[in-house]
Amino acid sequence: MTADSPKPEARVFCIANQKGGVGKTTTAINLAAALALHGQRVLLVDLDPQGNATMGSGIDKNGAAVNLYQVLIGEARVADARIRSESGNYDVLPSNRELSGAEIDLVGMENRETQLKKALDQIAPDYDFILIDCPPTLSLLTLNGLSGAHGVIIPMQCEYFALEGLSDLVNTIKRVYRNLNPGLELIGLLRVMFDTRVTLQQQVSEQLESHFGDKVFRSVVPRNVRLAEAPSHGMPGVIYDKSSRGAKAYLAFGEELIRRVGGRIRRRAA
Ligand code: ATP
Ligand code: MG
Repeated sequence: MTADSPKPEARVFCIANQKGGVGKTTTAINLAAALALHGQRVLLVDLDPQGNATMGSGIDKNGAAVNLYQVLIGEARVADARIRSESGNYDVLPSNRELSGAEIDLVGMENRETQLKKALDQIAPDYDFILIDCPPTLSLLTLNGLSGAHGVIIPMQCEYFALEGLSDLVNTIKRVYRNLNPGLELIGLLRVMFDTRVTLQQQVSEQLESHFGDKVFRSVVPRNVRLAEAPSHGMPGVIYDKSSRGAKAYLAFGEELIRRVGGRIRRRAA
């Protein structure tokens, strides 16, 4: 790349699954930190009023002067709302319960599904990756996430009902693709909280591979208590205990994702 060539555009990915508690936020936080360890410039957008991605990055969700809510309704500039996660070495657009009000405030606005995209476009050149942690709903907030993204990463547990929920999400992705965002792609399915000893999980995992082929990431995240402990220390699991099986899995996933999108690993995480 010469000095004059344009900077590559940030890849914007939603971490989405309308099912609750499947590991979206854990994936968003640990992927953000893993990509940063691989030398990428990362922004993590907390699109969930629960504010778990904010807190898990070591940021007090009620302490931020401005947050994503004010950005979405046009009362704050996105560049003023981002905060550095010192523990994770990436930036965060923080959220708290105020964000649930955006659902109502946005309804009356023009281009209500594309407010997040409008905001992210302003700061995209500062990053290699922008990750959006979606709430467990197919709501207007999630639509804003999908409208502003190049792709979707779906974390899922290999359980019987997981496949059923998946078709709703895939249909939503197709609708957004047709109506709002023709650039949207399913990047891949990530198996999380995986336990190789459970036969049903193995079977569902095989079904996923035969159904979705290459769209299933090769990296698999095991069930690992260190990943669950890390948020209470305000740290991503990959930083909190980098030798844990969970941390190693997310580091490998970060590397796989960079390769899949044709990016370059700038630094190999120790
Ligand atoms: P929500 O739908 O409420 O936003 P979520 O999909 O973001 O939830 P998480 O909050 O990431 O899910 O995870 C749900 C719970 O499972 C948390 O307590 C988290 O610590 C735990 N957890 C996530 N991944 C793992 C893992 N690989 N091993 C062990 N525990 C995990
Ligand atoms: Mg979450």
